[in-house]
Amino acid sequence: MDKDMSYGSDYKYIPATSIGSGVGIEVLPDLYSHTIQIVNICLVGTPKSEDFVLVDAGMPGSADEIISVTEKRFGSDHPPKAIILTHGHFDHVGAIVDLIKYWGVAVYAHEMELPYLTGKKSYPEPDPTVEGGMVAKMSPIFPNEPVQLGDHVQALPDDGSVPHMPGFRWIHTPGHTVGHVSLFREKDRVLVVGDAFVTVKQEYLYKVLTQEQEISGPPRYFTTDWKAAKESVISLEALKPSVAVTGHGLPMTGELLSESLAKLVQDFDQIAVPDYGKYLN
Ligand SMILES: [Zn+2]
Ligand SMILES: [Zn+2]
Repeated sequence: MDKDMSYGSDYKYIPATSIGSGVGIEVLPDLYSHTIQIVNICLVGTPKSEDFVLVDAGMPGSADEIISVTEKRFGSDHPPKAIILTHGHFDHVGAIVDLIKYWGVAVYAHEMELPYLTGKKSYPEPDPTVEGGMVAKMSPIFPNEPVQLGDHVQALPDDGSVPHMPGFRWIHTPGHTVGHVSLFREKDRVLVVGDAFVTVKQEYLYKVLTQEQEISGPPRYFTTDWKAAKESVISLEALKPSVAVTGHGLPMTGELLSESLAKLVQDFDQIAVPDYGKYLN
C-alpha cells in the first residue's frame, strides 16, 4: 500500500532557515505552532489527549522533527487522528509520505488541490523574476513537482466541517493555489491561515531569518492568481479573527491582527501584489 506514495521528483533539502527554526509557540492551550526552518506546522488539540490533528507537514526531510515535537506534546502512543493540508506546496508537504507511513494517518485537503497531491499536476514553477528579495531569487531551487499520496489523501467534507477538528470549518481561500484552504473556529475566532496571508515578508531572506512581524499577502514567487488571492484575504478579514497562525511568520493576535488585516485589505495592491512578475494578469 505504501508503494503508491512518493515525494515530488525534484524534492530535496532546502538550505534556508530562520531564528524561529525548531521553536514552538503555544498560541492557545489547544493550538501549538512549531517552526521548521522557514515554515510552520500546527498541532490542534489538548496536550496528552488522543484527539488532535496536525495541520501541514513541513519541509523536505523534517519527518523526524515533526514526529518528535508531536510525541513530546501528545505522547508516543497516540498518533494524530488526521493531517489537514492547507495546500500542497513542497514546504507544507515536505514530510508527508514519511508521516503517513509512520502514523498510518488519513490526510485531507480541498478537492481542487487533490491533483497536486496525487501526482497528476505540477504546480506552476516559482517565479524568480517577481518583485522581492533573495528568497524570491532563490525560488527556482524550490520543488514544484507534486507528491503522490494515492488514496491516502481525501477531499475535505462538502459540509465545511474539518475531520477531527470539532468547531472548525474550512474556508476555500484560492489565489496562492487553486485549492488552498484556511481553517476557522467560530467560538474563539481562531484562524489557521496557511499561506492565504502571512506575517513575514517571505520573499526577503533577512526578514525570513529574523521573522520580523509584518502582515503580507501570500508568498509572491508561488502565487499565480492575485485577484483570487485578494478575494480570499477579504473573506478572511470579514471573519474578524482574534488569533491567526500563518504558514510563515509568527502568530498574530488581537488589535495588531485586526489592524494589520484591515490594512492588508485596504492596500492589498500595494502591500501584497508585486509590481512585476510573470504571474501578474
Ligand atoms: Zn505555499
Ligand atoms: Zn508556504
